[in-house]
Formats: sequence, structure tokens, C-alpha cells
Amino acid sequence: MSNSFNSADAIIIGGGIAGIVSALELLNLDKKVILFERGLESDLGGLAKVSFGGMFFVDTPIQRRGGIKDSPKLAYDDWCRVAHFNENDHYPKLWAKHYVYHCKNYVFEWLKKEGVKFFPVVHWVERGLFRPGNSYPRFHLIWGTGHELVRVLLKNLREHPKAGSNLTIKCQHKVEEFIVQDNRIVGVNGVDTNTDQAFRAEAKAVVIASGGIGGSIKRVKENWYKPWGDPPETILNGSHPFADGLLHDEAEKYNAKITHMDKMWPYAAGVHHPRPKNKDEGLSLVPPKSALWLNYKGERIGPMPLITAYDTRFLVEQICKQEKKYSWQVLNRKIADKEFAISGAEFNQAIRDKKIVGFLKTLLFGNKELVDDMLANCVDFVVADSIEELGHKMNELSGDNDVDIAILKEAITSYDDNIERGPKFYNDEQLRRIAHTRRYSGDKIRTSKFQKIVDEKAGPLIAIREFIVSRKTLGGIQTDLQCKVMDNEGNTIPGLYSTGEAAGFGGGGMHGRGALEGTFLGGCVFTARIVAHTIADKSLIE
Ligand SMILES: Cc1cc2nc3c(=O)[nH]c(=O)nc-3n(C[C@H](O)[C@H](O)[C@H](O)COP(=O)(O)OP(=O)(O)OC[C@H]3O[C@@H](n4cnc5c(N)ncnc54)[C@H](O)[C@@H]3O)c2cc1C
Repeated sequence: MSNSFNSADAIIIGGGIAGIVSALELLNLDKKVILFERGLESDLGGLAKVSFGGMFFVDTPIQRRGGIKDSPKLAYDDWCRVAHFNENDHYPKLWAKHYVYHCKNYVFEWLKKEGVKFFPVVHWVERGLFRPGNSYPRFHLIWGTGHELVRVLLKNLREHPKAGSNLTIKCQHKVEEFIVQDNRIVGVNGVDTNTDQAFRAEAKAVVIASGGIGGSIKRVKENWYKPWGDPPETILNGSHPFADGLLHDEAEKYNAKITHMDKMWPYAAGVHHPRPKNKDEGLSLVPPKSALWLNYKGERIGPMPLITAYDTRFLVEQICKQEKKYSWQVLNRKIADKEFAISGAEFNQAIRDKKIVGFLKTLLFGNKELVDDMLANCVDFVVADSIEELGHKMNELSGDNDVDIAILKEAITSYDDNIERGPKFYNDEQLRRIAHTRRYSGDKIRTSKFQKIVDEKAGPLIAIREFIVSRKTLGGIQTDLQCKVMDNEGNTIPGLYSTGEAAGFGGGGMHGRGALEGTFLGGCVFTARIVAHTIADKSLIE
């Protein structure tokens, strides 16, 4: 016995942000949709639901009010510098330009109309280390994080005037294969994971919106970027287990072009989730800028010290150059209280729940409860009153004697001595970068003013063991500018479409090998709106 669903214009596979927006736009265009989601009803929203909700936009009124005179030309130049496109990256480049030039009107303004609100100050991430990254702040934070983005759009979908007649959502429905007739994809086969019953569905269009491969550490390791050497022994999972590439493989069976799969966007400062729901679930820390970043031996990584806000990829690259590919950050309680944060909705409750007083308190005084929680419950934190004690505890935690206490002491004291000599004599790249970040008001408030590590008024000392944590897949299923899936000969595959992270956020990799951040949620919304218009035989962008 198998269930059949046969009267839709489009089947959408995946109920993440890309799937939800595709469905919503198809209803707006008076089309009938069936959306299959592998997870539970509560999983609708996918990664966006747990995301921080930062979105990359160019030349918005929020930027202008902050004195930022941005332009698509400047932003596209920044993008290309970070992407390192090569001459074969035809569709990725087209998509990048498409996004940069149209994100304000077709993502930012559209989301506002749907009821999503943005924080009035733009954050400045990925500034670039040796070459400029984001020339201006462009990271627009959703008031309520990605959790709110999903809540608003899912509500609009469910309450859409056409939802009763045109929308079917089936959760715990895992799509496993495509149905093909006369060289056209005409439907899907799958299994209802609740009842173990097979199902089949047919429609004029099948949209793959099933996310990337970051949820399968096996696949992350298999696709590891070769110039980084062997993958680290431990990579934590910063995605969800259903982002496993099952449908990339299925599409590949029909000659779909899967590209840039080694261009991933993992993070350098991953720790074990204290209350994991999935195996090896990792949290990505926003690494405190005033902490010292050390290798597995307790030696400061250099000569260019590691500091966040400039170049995420550089951090990962430097850690992967070490013999053992994990790292330590050493700081003290005062720094932690002011700067410690974790990316995502779960650990930013005040913003997520739109509590203005709680949010202002966190902004002004830091998140002490979060630090307490991690110190008490996360296995990767150790606390001590002296450098010697800290070194011993670090060795105890990693189960070896790799941390050389003399080296650790040298790293900490030479940095502290530099601060002790006074601002006129600061000669340390990390201190210069701290001075630079503190010049932007959006960062000043959460960055300590040249804080020494050993300081009896700031203790105790803290060491955090940090692993590489998987997150976004920059590559994916290649699509043309209408989100039609391309094959290896450059033709489109009739009936098959892709959107969101599954499509490398557009074209099978619109980021090339590096991202300016906030471009992931933005890319999902943009590609999803476009795919709906293509299926309805319309054009989103006039
Ligand atoms: C903690 C965190 C913070 C983040 N912060 C930001 C941020 O600030 N800014 C930003 O731009 N990006 C951020 N991101 C990234 C962003 O959230 C994702 O790139 C984006 O949400 C991906 O959306 P998607 O719909 O393409 O894929 P997903 O969210 O992965 O959704 C895909 C859905 O498809 C379902 N599915 C998979 N396979 C099948 C199948 N075979 N059958 C049926 N269903 C299937 C899955 O269960 C899932 O629900 C963050 C991510 C995380 C985890």
C-alpha cells in the first residue's frame, strides 16, 4: 500500500526557509503546492529556525541612517574578492551579481512587507584581513533572530487565503527518489517515517530545497578542501542530521551537475553542545576578540594572531595548518562576561524573544548566565587561578601532555606585557585589530578595552578547547538564473528545480570559496522567490 498525492503544480522537498518561501510565493501566484518535510512539524524552518538571523543587504535605509553610503558595485567587488571565482564559475558569478544588485528590493523590502523587522544598527562582520572584505557593515539582524523569520513566514503560509485549497504540508515524509517519464522529472517516491508506508507524488515541477551536506560529518570529511590537508579528526556537527546530501545523489543519477562541494563554510570555534539532541552536535562560538588563540601545544597561533570579525576562512585555514587540528582560546572571566557569545537563536534568548530590556542588559553587561552555563555544563571549558593550573587542566581535558606550560606562560605574559607598556607602545596585531573594531559603535560595546589575560581583578582564567564545526555548504546543485537544474552538458533537466543551500544558494555555489556572511538566509529567500516565479511562468525581476 502506498499513499498518492497527485494534484499539485509543484512538489517542494524540504521545509526549511527555502522550502517555506517557495511555497508561500507559489500560493501568491495561485499555484497548488505539496511540501514534504523529513523532520517533525516542529522542525519546519530547518536551520533558519535556529539561525542568528543576520542578513546581507546593500544600500538599505538602515545603512543610510547609520551614515553608510553603500552601493551594489562596491558590494559586488567585495564579494568577488572573497569568492575567488575562477573562469569556469559562470553561473555562480551570475548569481552573485544577481543577489547583490537585487537583494534590497526583492529580499529586504519583501521580508519587511511580510512582517519581518530588522534591528536599527547594522553589524560589521567579515571585514577582511589582508584585503578588504565587507567595505561597509551589511549584516542586518532580524529582531527576533531566524526563529522570528520562520515564525512570521510560516504563519503567513499557513494563514494564506489560498492555503485551504492549494497547500498540503506533509511532515515525517522523506523523499528518496525521483519519478521520471520521457526524460522529465514528474514526481517523487518516498517513505512516511512515522508509519513506514511508502508514498508517491506527481506534479509539473519538483523543487529540491533539502539543504546542504553539513549534517553528515562523513560527507564533510570526504569533500574536505584539499589545500587544507587531511580533515581534522574531530569535526563537530553544526548543521542538522537531515542535511545529508541524499537528494544531491539522487539528482546526480539524472546527470545533474553538482559543483563546488569542497567549498564549505565551517567555523573555527566549535564546542560540544552541553545538551545535545544529535550526535556530536556542536555550537559555534563568536570567539572573544580579547582572548588569546593558541594551538594544541598552548602556543599562540601566528605570526598573524587569530581574531574574529575579519576573515572566517583564514581562522579555519590556520588551525588546519597545525599538526593537531583543534585549538584553545585563553581568556579570563571579565573578558568572557563582556564578549562571550554563541551564534544562533538558542543562546540569544533576549533577541530571539524580542525582550528589549533583556537585550539591552546583554548588550551593556554581557551574558553572564551564558558563561555560567558553559562553565558548568560544557566539557570544553576549564577554569583555574594560575597559568600552571590552567595548563594542567588543559592537558587533563585533552588526555595528553601536549600543552607545554612554559610555552603557554610565554604566550600569555608577552601579550600582557605589551598591554602593560601602555597604548603608545602597543605593537601587537591583535591589539591593533581590537582598536579597529572598537572604532565602530556596533562593536565597541561588546569588545573589552585592551584587557590583560592575567589580572587579579579579572579572574579566574578560562581555557576553551575549540574544534572545527561544520555549518554551511557553499556548493551544490547547479541551476541557471531561473533555478532550473542544469546537467553536466549545460542543459536544463525538465521538471527539476533547486533552491536554497541545496543549490549552493544559487548556481551551485554563488559564494565561490568565501562568504561575506548573512548571504545564506538571503540567498535562500532570493532563490525561493525566483523558483516560484519560474514555475508560474513569470519573472520576479522586471
Ligand atoms: C546556528 C546557525 C546560525 C546561522 N546563522 C545564520 C545567519 O545569521 N545568517 C545567515 O545568512 N545564515 C545563517 N545560518 C545558515 C542558514 O540558516 C542556512 O544556510 C539556511 O537556513 C538553509 O536553509 P535551507 O532551507 O536551504 O536548508 P535547511 O534549513 O537545511 O532545510 C532543509 C530541509 O529539508 C529537509 N529535508 C532534507 N532532506 C529531505 C528529504 N529527503 N525529504 C524531505 N525533506 C528533507 C530537512 O529536514 C530540512 O528541514 C545559520 C545556521 C545555523 C545552524
